[in-house]
Amino acid sequence: MTTSPTFSMCVYCGSRPGKLDAFGEAADAVGHWIGSHGGQLVYGGGKSGLMGTVARATREAGGRVVGVIPKALVDRELANELCDELHVVTTMHERKAMMAERSNAFIAIPGGIGTFEELYEIWTWRQLGYHDKPIGILNAHGYYDGMLQFLQQCVGQGFMDEWQMGLIKSGDNHATLLEQLVEEAGLSRQNDALREVI
Ligand code: AMP
Repeated sequence: MTTSPTFSMCVYCGSRPGKLDAFGEAADAVGHWIGSHGGQLVYGGGKSGLMGTVARATREAGGRVVGVIPKALVDRELANELCDELHVVTTMHERKAMMAERSNAFIAIPGGIGTFEELYEIWTWRQLGYHDKPIGILNAHGYYDGMLQFLQQCVGQGFMDEWQMGLIKSGDNHATLLEQLVEEAGLSRQNDALREVI
Protein backbone atom coordinates (compact mmCIF):
# COMPACT_ATOMS: atom_id res chain seq x y z
CA MET A 1 0.00 0.00 0.00
CA THR A 2 1.30 3.46 -0.84
CA THR A 3 -0.43 5.69 1.73
CA SER A 4 0.51 5.66 5.42
CA PRO A 5 -1.55 3.31 7.56
CA THR A 6 -4.38 5.04 9.41
CA PHE A 7 -3.75 3.08 12.60
CA SER A 8 -1.39 0.44 13.98
CA MET A 9 -3.04 -2.50 15.73
CA CYS A 10 -0.95 -4.86 17.85
CA VAL A 11 -2.33 -8.40 17.85
CA TYR A 12 -1.32 -10.87 20.56
CA CYS A 13 -2.21 -14.41 19.56
CA GLY A 14 -1.26 -18.06 19.64
CA SER A 15 1.83 -19.41 17.94
CA ARG A 16 -0.37 -22.52 17.63
CA PRO A 17 -3.61 -22.80 15.66
CA GLY A 18 -5.73 -24.22 18.50
CA LYS A 19 -8.13 -27.10 18.03
CA LEU A 20 -11.18 -25.36 16.61
CA ASP A 21 -11.57 -23.83 13.14
CA ALA A 22 -13.30 -20.90 14.87
CA PHE A 23 -9.95 -19.68 16.20
CA GLY A 24 -8.33 -19.59 12.76
CA GLU A 25 -11.44 -17.89 11.39
CA ALA A 26 -11.20 -15.22 14.10
CA ALA A 27 -7.50 -14.57 13.34
CA ASP A 28 -8.32 -14.37 9.63
CA ALA A 29 -11.19 -11.95 10.25
CA VAL A 30 -9.04 -9.70 12.46
CA GLY A 31 -6.27 -9.56 9.84
CA HIS A 32 -8.74 -8.81 7.04
CA TRP A 33 -10.41 -6.10 9.11
CA ILE A 34 -7.07 -4.40 9.80
CA GLY A 35 -5.98 -4.56 6.16
CA SER A 36 -9.30 -3.51 4.68
CA HIS A 37 -9.53 -0.49 7.02
CA GLY A 38 -6.15 0.88 5.95
CA GLY A 39 -4.41 -0.33 9.09
CA GLN A 40 -1.07 -1.81 9.96
CA LEU A 41 -0.54 -5.00 11.94
CA VAL A 42 2.13 -5.08 14.64
CA TYR A 43 2.77 -8.54 15.99
CA GLY A 44 5.39 -11.03 17.15
CA GLY A 45 6.74 -11.69 13.65
CA GLY A 46 6.24 -15.46 13.63
CA LYS A 47 4.65 -17.56 10.94
CA SER A 48 3.18 -20.41 12.94
CA GLY A 49 -0.37 -20.84 14.22
CA LEU A 50 -2.72 -17.88 14.54
CA MET A 51 0.26 -15.51 14.22
CA GLY A 52 0.83 -16.65 10.64
CA THR A 53 -2.90 -16.52 9.91
CA VAL A 54 -3.38 -12.94 11.09
CA ALA A 55 -0.29 -11.71 9.20
CA ARG A 56 -1.32 -13.44 5.97
CA ALA A 57 -4.88 -12.09 6.20
CA THR A 58 -3.68 -8.53 6.84
CA ARG A 59 -1.45 -8.68 3.76
CA GLU A 60 -4.20 -10.22 1.63
CA ALA A 61 -6.47 -7.31 2.53
CA GLY A 62 -3.81 -4.75 1.57
CA GLY A 63 -2.44 -3.90 5.05
CA ARG A 64 1.16 -3.46 6.17
CA VAL A 65 2.70 -6.00 8.50
CA VAL A 66 5.33 -5.14 11.11
CA GLY A 67 6.94 -8.07 12.93
CA VAL A 68 9.16 -7.75 16.01
CA ILE A 69 10.99 -10.94 16.85
CA PRO A 70 13.84 -11.90 19.16
CA LYS A 71 16.99 -13.22 17.49
CA ALA A 72 16.62 -16.63 19.13
CA LEU A 73 13.31 -17.24 17.34
CA VAL A 74 14.69 -16.11 13.96
CA ASP A 75 17.50 -18.58 14.44
CA ARG A 76 14.87 -21.27 14.78
CA GLU A 77 13.58 -20.18 11.34
CA LEU A 78 10.23 -19.11 12.61
CA ALA A 79 10.34 -15.52 11.31
CA ASN A 80 7.69 -14.62 8.78
CA GLU A 81 9.18 -13.53 5.46
CA LEU A 82 5.96 -11.81 4.42
CA CYS A 83 6.48 -8.96 6.94
CA ASP A 84 6.88 -5.54 5.29
CA GLU A 85 9.13 -4.65 8.23
CA LEU A 86 10.80 -7.30 10.36
CA HIS A 87 12.68 -6.06 13.41
CA VAL A 88 15.07 -8.55 14.93
CA VAL A 89 15.74 -7.59 18.54
CA THR A 90 17.95 -9.05 21.24
CA THR A 91 15.61 -9.58 24.17
CA MET A 92 11.93 -10.29 24.81
CA HIS A 93 11.75 -7.09 26.82
CA GLU A 94 13.02 -5.06 23.87
CA ARG A 95 10.49 -6.78 21.66
CA LYS A 96 7.49 -6.01 23.83
CA ALA A 97 8.58 -2.41 24.30
CA MET A 98 8.92 -1.93 20.53
CA MET A 99 5.56 -3.62 19.84
CA ALA A 100 3.96 -1.29 22.39
CA GLU A 101 5.58 1.82 21.04
CA ARG A 102 4.74 1.04 17.41
CA SER A 103 1.03 0.43 18.13
CA ASN A 104 -2.01 2.63 18.74
CA ALA A 105 -4.12 -0.16 20.26
CA PHE A 106 -3.83 -3.81 21.35
CA ILE A 107 -6.04 -6.83 20.92
CA ALA A 108 -5.55 -10.30 22.34
CA ILE A 109 -7.20 -13.12 20.43
CA PRO A 110 -6.99 -16.79 21.46
CA GLY A 111 -3.52 -17.96 22.42
CA GLY A 112 -1.45 -19.47 25.20
CA ILE A 113 1.11 -18.34 27.80
CA GLY A 114 2.90 -15.92 25.45
CA THR A 115 -0.38 -14.22 24.57
CA PHE A 116 -1.44 -13.96 28.22
CA GLU A 117 1.93 -12.55 29.24
CA GLU A 118 1.78 -9.86 26.56
CA LEU A 119 -1.82 -8.96 27.41
CA TYR A 120 -1.22 -8.71 31.16
CA GLU A 121 1.94 -6.69 30.71
CA ILE A 122 0.33 -4.08 28.45
CA TRP A 123 -2.65 -3.95 30.85
CA THR A 124 -0.30 -3.44 33.83
CA TRP A 125 1.50 -0.64 31.99
CA ARG A 126 -1.86 0.97 31.31
CA GLN A 127 -3.08 0.79 34.92
CA LEU A 128 0.17 2.43 36.01
CA GLY A 129 -0.34 5.22 33.49
CA TYR A 130 2.71 4.33 31.36
CA HIS A 131 0.49 4.61 28.31
CA ASP A 132 -3.07 5.44 27.44
CA LYS A 133 -3.75 3.08 24.54
CA PRO A 134 -6.89 0.92 24.31
CA ILE A 135 -6.72 -2.81 24.95
CA GLY A 136 -9.22 -5.47 23.87
CA ILE A 137 -9.84 -9.17 24.28
CA LEU A 138 -11.55 -10.96 21.42
CA ASN A 139 -13.52 -13.69 23.15
CA ALA A 140 -13.75 -15.85 20.02
CA HIS A 141 -15.93 -18.91 20.51
CA GLY A 142 -16.02 -18.20 24.27
CA TYR A 143 -12.30 -18.95 24.58
CA TYR A 144 -11.82 -16.33 27.30
CA ASP A 145 -15.07 -16.98 29.23
CA GLY A 146 -13.25 -18.70 32.09
CA MET A 147 -10.55 -16.03 32.32
CA LEU A 148 -13.07 -13.15 32.30
CA GLN A 149 -15.07 -14.89 35.00
CA PHE A 150 -11.94 -15.37 37.08
CA LEU A 151 -11.02 -11.69 36.69
CA GLN A 152 -14.47 -10.71 38.00
CA GLN A 153 -13.81 -13.02 40.93
CA CYS A 154 -10.55 -11.10 41.55
CA VAL A 155 -12.60 -7.89 41.76
CA GLY A 156 -15.03 -9.60 44.14
CA GLN A 157 -12.15 -10.75 46.35
CA GLY A 158 -10.70 -7.26 46.56
CA PHE A 159 -7.51 -7.72 44.52
CA MET A 160 -8.71 -5.60 41.64
CA ASP A 161 -11.06 -2.66 41.16
CA GLU A 162 -13.80 -2.28 38.58
CA TRP A 163 -11.90 0.62 36.98
CA GLN A 164 -9.04 -1.76 36.22
CA MET A 165 -11.45 -4.18 34.54
CA GLY A 166 -12.81 -1.16 32.70
CA LEU A 167 -9.42 -0.65 31.03
CA ILE A 168 -10.09 -3.79 28.97
CA LYS A 169 -12.79 -4.07 26.33
CA SER A 170 -13.99 -7.56 25.56
CA GLY A 171 -16.43 -8.96 23.04
CA ASP A 172 -17.03 -11.81 20.63
CA ASN A 173 -17.52 -9.70 17.52
CA HIS A 174 -14.20 -8.77 15.93
CA ALA A 175 -15.54 -5.84 13.89
CA THR A 176 -17.35 -4.18 16.80
CA LEU A 177 -14.35 -4.57 19.09
CA LEU A 178 -11.79 -3.37 16.54
CA GLU A 179 -13.95 -0.34 15.69
CA GLN A 180 -14.13 0.59 19.39
CA LEU A 181 -10.38 0.22 19.83
CA VAL A 182 -9.53 2.31 16.77
CA GLU A 183 -12.00 4.98 17.80
CA GLU A 184 -10.62 5.12 21.33
CA ALA A 185 -7.03 5.17 20.01
CA GLY A 186 -7.84 8.42 18.25
CA LEU A 187 -8.49 10.01 21.66
CA SER A 188 -5.43 8.67 23.40
CA ARG A 189 -2.28 10.62 24.20
CA GLN A 190 -0.36 7.56 23.09
CA ASN A 191 3.39 7.22 23.70
CA ASP A 192 4.04 10.27 25.88
CA ALA A 193 4.58 8.36 29.08
CA LEU A 194 5.63 5.04 27.53
CA ARG A 195 8.90 6.43 26.14
CA GLU A 196 9.94 7.71 29.54
CA VAL A 197 9.41 4.60 31.61
CA ILE A 198 10.08 1.40 29.68
P1 AMP B 1 1.62 -18.39 22.74
O1 AMP B 1 0.32 -17.70 23.04
O2 AMP B 1 2.23 -19.03 23.94
O3 AMP B 1 1.56 -19.30 21.54
O4 AMP B 1 2.63 -17.21 22.36
C1 AMP B 1 2.30 -16.34 21.35
C2 AMP B 1 2.74 -14.94 21.66
O5 AMP B 1 4.09 -14.96 22.16
C3 AMP B 1 2.73 -14.10 20.39
O6 AMP B 1 1.86 -12.97 20.48
C4 AMP B 1 4.20 -13.74 20.18
O7 AMP B 1 4.44 -12.36 20.34
C5 AMP B 1 5.00 -14.57 21.16
N1 AMP B 1 5.55 -15.83 20.50
C6 AMP B 1 5.46 -17.07 20.98
N2 AMP B 1 6.00 -17.99 20.14
C7 AMP B 1 6.46 -17.32 19.10
C8 AMP B 1 7.13 -17.70 17.88
N3 AMP B 1 7.40 -18.95 17.59
N4 AMP B 1 7.45 -16.73 17.00
C9 AMP B 1 7.19 -15.45 17.29
N5 AMP B 1 6.57 -15.05 18.42
C10 AMP B 1 6.19 -15.94 19.31
